Amino acid sequence: MSRIRTEEEKQVARRMTREKQKEDWLQQQEEKRSGHERYMKEAVKQAKKAAALGEVPIGCVIVQEGKIIGRGYNRRNTDKSTLAHAEIAAIRRASRAVGDWRLEDCALYVTLEPCQMCAGAIIQARIPEVFIGCMNPKAGCAGSVYNLLEEPAFNHQAHVFRGLLEEECSQLMKGFFKDLRLRTGRESQEMAKTERRRETAKTEGRQETES
Ligand SMILES: [Zn+2]
Repeated sequence: MSRIRTEEEKQVARRMTREKQKEDWLQQQEEKRSGHERYMKEAVKQAKKAAALGEVPIGCVIVQEGKIIGRGYNRRNTDKSTLAHAEIAAIRRASRAVGDWRLEDCALYVTLEPCQMCAGAIIQARIPEVFIGCMNPKAGCAGSVYNLLEEPAFNHQAHVFRGLLEEECSQLMKGFFKDLRLRTGRESQEMAKTERRRETAKTEGRQETES
């Protein structure tokens, strides 16, 4: 015998359906992991372009029907623009390629968990599938700080696959920041040396005038 369900019961049922769909989707993608890794490798290539410019190495590609239609890498310092994130560049190119702001049958691959701006753009572009290399605990908006991609209160959500080529993507970041620390360490050493030389020169100059 069926009875009228309360609103709370309906909500629980909806949440369970969503969780089940999520699990099924993840299972399906797991079976196609090597195919997905191929695209993530392309995103890694993009990230290396950013690294070559001294930028934080983040890369992104967008795929439609097995074809890469948009590529992008972080150029924030180079372009002096907050908007120059890898995902935004890739979305812009993909939209140009399909002639539409909607990217409803596309998948996005990004080496690092998207920030709030990029996660917002992904939802705005209606991209249904997002593959992430490594997570960004301090700023990520696909589950770390916040989960904007799977927020049920929005009209659109994306499926999210995390940890695709995770080791490679996280090594990319670690390597970059290690180099940066070494570089800034060397620079401050150089500055200290110059400062010491200047001080010595000043003292010697004083001694000369005194004698
Ligand atoms: Zn971003």
